Amino acid sequence: MQKVGILGGGQLGRMLLQAAANYPVITYVLENDPECPAAHLCHHFVLGDIRDYDTVYNFGRQVDTLTIEIESVNVDALERLESEGVKVYPRPRALRTIKNKIHQKLFYKEKEIPTAPFIVVENRAALETHLAELPAVQKIGEGGYDGKGVQVLRGPEDLKNSFDAPSVLEKLVPIKKELAVIVATNGRGETAIYPATEMVFHPELNLLDYQLCPADIPRETLWKAEALAMMVVRGLESPGIFAVELFMDSRGDVWVNETAPRVHNSGHHTIEAAFSSQFDMLWRVMLGYPLGNPDARQPSALLNIVGADGFSGDAKYDGLDDVLKMGNTFVHLYGKKTTKPGRKMGHVTLVGKDRQELVYQAGVIKKLLRVIA
Ligand code: ADP
Repeated sequence: MQKVGILGGGQLGRMLLQAAANYPVITYVLENDPECPAAHLCHHFVLGDIRDYDTVYNFGRQVDTLTIEIESVNVDALERLESEGVKVYPRPRALRTIKNKIHQKLFYKEKEIPTAPFIVVENRAALETHLAELPAVQKIGEGGYDGKGVQVLRGPEDLKNSFDAPSVLEKLVPIKKELAVIVATNGRGETAIYPATEMVFHPELNLLDYQLCPADIPRETLWKAEALAMMVVRGLESPGIFAVELFMDSRGDVWVNETAPRVHNSGHHTIEAAFSSQFDMLWRVMLGYPLGNPDARQPSALLNIVGADGFSGDAKYDGLDDVLKMGNTFVHLYGKKTTKPGRKMGHVTLVGKDRQELVYQAGVIKKLLRVIA
């Protein structure tokens, strides 16, 4: 049986392992936290730092295939493992391009993929020489996630709070909608494109509020979004699964925002709402099976369950019974022991024919279900 290792043991790893149970595969997880969401679902759990060269190298030597559930891994070790015959999804070179937002934006530019205009700045002092670019969005090259490395600089008064690190300074896009298109490719020229997802964001936490699939967008916009997602995936020249996040602006133009070279939050609904989920799809790619069917079985909405404000400690799920009683919901709790404000603790997928009804119901669930301590 093939041995497959996952770098990172969060909820993405957990859901990947749930899908692995359908296939003949021995699973390994590398993660620092012995109580992480994926720790109890794999065959072999290895405690260690995914950013450390020797740790990743030694972990990778015992498996045939490796994948990631987060970008902040040691790419040098992956490159060496690849050269020694371990199959790595995505390829380390593609991961290197994406891992750093500066490299990622330069890649879009090089491939002539529409993305918000930007400049690269080395530090805060360099920002001061580019005040004419403001207002703009500053994104640190490495180390940010879930909106933590991204902020809007409205004018010179915001400089004191800017990131003092190599970063991208990007023009503000008048965003009308945020979309994501997930593409799987097996490296033999075959690809599967999931229906576009539309994402609605929480204005304060900058964390996903709810998402809808298929996205409610004109056909031409969908075509553009799909074409751009394909350009990104072709350009990266790597098998695997990729979530391409895009903006639709007020004129209907579409821009690539960023790409995740892995399973992604924007695809969680595919577990119940697609024929082959993003997790199932990645196993098919890694194990050499035919690609699955990415089509939607029904429209769906997805709500992240995040830690409520003002509560930190052992997690309790207030209102859970009410949500579990609903006939068209699927509840996923990630098994995280402790909660804190904004922490992703789980998600709820709703399926149904009527989009309005799904949105309404998502609002009801948002009020009902709270993670407290
Ligand atoms: P992260 O990698 O932390 O998710 P993103 O690059 O996706 O960061 O940015 C987070 C959010 O910030 C986006 O979802 C979007 O709402 C907003 N944002 C990012 N870039 C721009 C931009 N150029 N113009 C306007 N808003 C932006």
